[in-house]
Amino acid sequence: CWLGLVFASRGYAAAAQARSVLENELAAIRAAGTWKGERVIKSKQGAHIHVDGSRGDILNFCANNYLGLSSHPEVVQAGVDALKMYGAGLSSVRFICGTQDIHKDLEQKLAKFHEREDCILYASCFDANAGLFEVLLGPDDAVLSDELNHASIIDGIRLCRAKRFRYKHMDLNDLEDKLKEAESSRLRLVVTDGVFSMDGDIAPLQGICDLAEKYGAMVFIDECHATGFLGARGRGTDELLGVMDRVQIVNSTLGKALGGAAGGYTVGPKPLIELLRQRSRPYLFSNSLPPPVVGSATRAVELLLASNEIAQSMAAKTMRFRNAMTQAGFTISGAAHPICPVMLGDAQLASLMADDMLNFGVYVIGFSYPVVPKGKARIRVQISAAHTDQDIDHCVDAFIQTGRKHGVIS
Ligand code: PLP
Repeated sequence: CWLGLVFASRGYAAAAQARSVLENELAAIRAAGTWKGERVIKSKQGAHIHVDGSRGDILNFCANNYLGLSSHPEVVQAGVDALKMYGAGLSSVRFICGTQDIHKDLEQKLAKFHEREDCILYASCFDANAGLFEVLLGPDDAVLSDELNHASIIDGIRLCRAKRFRYKHMDLNDLEDKLKEAESSRLRLVVTDGVFSMDGDIAPLQGICDLAEKYGAMVFIDECHATGFLGARGRGTDELLGVMDRVQIVNSTLGKALGGAAGGYTVGPKPLIELLRQRSRPYLFSNSLPPPVVGSATRAVELLLASNEIAQSMAAKTMRFRNAMTQAGFTISGAAHPICPVMLGDAQLASLMADDMLNFGVYVIGFSYPVVPKGKARIRVQISAAHTDQDIDHCVDAFIQTGRKHGVIS
């Protein structure tokens, strides 16, 4: 029994040691000024929200709710209907007993939306990115990845055994050099975000496709910040740049413009999708998407297949914001994308200004190192179709007043 006591005390000591290691780590994050706090929202996601600790309506300019579908009445109702008809969840992965007709239907609609042969759903786009590369690429293959690709792409590539080439951000010359280096590989895959979320800049897909064709490579894009609203029909960056038939594989999310609940997917050639169903680990070993999530996302896709009106209205609001802010003297980075980074440079300034904006009833977030490069701190504003013109104007006014207070504009 004394042995039991010795083991128990060793257990306590190990737990105490781990606690102290973790507390030191947390203190270091705080000391580095990179602590990420979380404001608590007490309402639905939308243009106007209630935030714990703030009085009244707050105007929300930092969600990925690009089309305002997160609380669109039809999207919400479709979730409720699916919940009632199909239950809360499947208690299963897809291949055991987790596939309902609504999962198949959503996959077909997404394939149709992107004009690709087939589609596979995942619990998130993070999972779609984690599950793709390992299945498609082996040690004889090569993957060429933009240095600023999303963390989930970086992690997915780490899991695969292909040779890795990292090219400079959106640099076609560097990509060409890397493609030359990879010429002896069996398969070559160029991997890029369609839109990079920190700057709202758009990958030069025409040039990328030209090079891919010249060197016999395939092209993959992550369309999380494009699906539903870029391009004339909101199909994404590939539609905007006229290369839908030249990009072979697209990953995207249901967690942003397409209703904002959760879920991700891959669309592409049928044999690839079939192989992913057989081998992709996040698909095989994680629960099916819950029916209410599938119901809401399906309605969001149906709305977009029926009309491009919502996507167009968002584009007009984006230009209203970008033009007014530029006229007021601010520097807005990126192209004509609803991600509008207001460039400030200094990290403390970005954080102070974001706090001040909340006093004007506007919720925005400052981003600084290590999320963005040193000296490139900014407030990232995201426009939604749910914002009215008055909401946009109010946000611009708040920026003008706080910008003057902090000497950013005169
Ligand atoms: N890829 C990009 C470019 C993203 O911005 C995100 C989300 O932040 C993801 C992938 C992951 O998407 P999800 O939230 O569906 O896991």
